[in-house]
Amino acid sequence: DPRLQAISEAIRVIPHFPKTGIMFQDITTLLLNHKAFKDTVDIFIDRFRDMDISVVAGIEARGFMFGPSIALAIGAKFVPLRKPRKLPGEVISEAYELEYGTDCLEMHVGAVVPGERAVIIDDLVATGGTLSAATRLLERMGAEVVECACVIGLPEVKGQRRLNGKPLYILVEPR
Ligand code: 5GP
Repeated sequence: DPRLQAISEAIRVIPHFPKTGIMFQDITTLLLNHKAFKDTVDIFIDRFRDMDISVVAGIEARGFMFGPSIALAIGAKFVPLRKPRKLPGEVISEAYELEYGTDCLEMHVGAVVPGERAVIIDDLVATGGTLSAATRLLERMGAEVVECACVIGLPEVKGQRRLNGKPLYILVEPR
């Protein structure tokens, strides 16, 4: 896809953020570039529009920057998957491993009904731990996770193109 190179180039790389040794992929510069931002969202819309998807779940915080536009365009609901103690209603939680310690994602009970077909959106997949926790949340509520999709995938994960046996859809690798 000829649009992918410009998308890749619109992502700024910031060395040593948030700590020494990390090459941070900064998607805020992609959001500043109207064409690259629109092409990114359009690629996801084209992929998901005929897959009978009724749920787009976005992971806090950068999944919130892409997910709602996709949901509106394909006629799906948007479900925010949030960090602990942000959602006001009854929630279910799933913990996942970080490099040091654990973190947790939460989803509102009743946000999806059993049998709904879902895609999960985030900006970047590294180990896949975050997307795996997100998948468990949706599956506990009876939804079917059809695919996880990210703008950026680290090469290891891009190579396998799957996460716990589920398809993983990635647009670009880090530069
Ligand atoms: P994983 O759970 O796959 O190891 O890590 C993915 C999560 O970490 C995503 O929610 C993503 O937003 C965040 N993340 C890790 N590294 C980066 C990075 O370099 N850039 C951005 N934008 N997000 C990152």
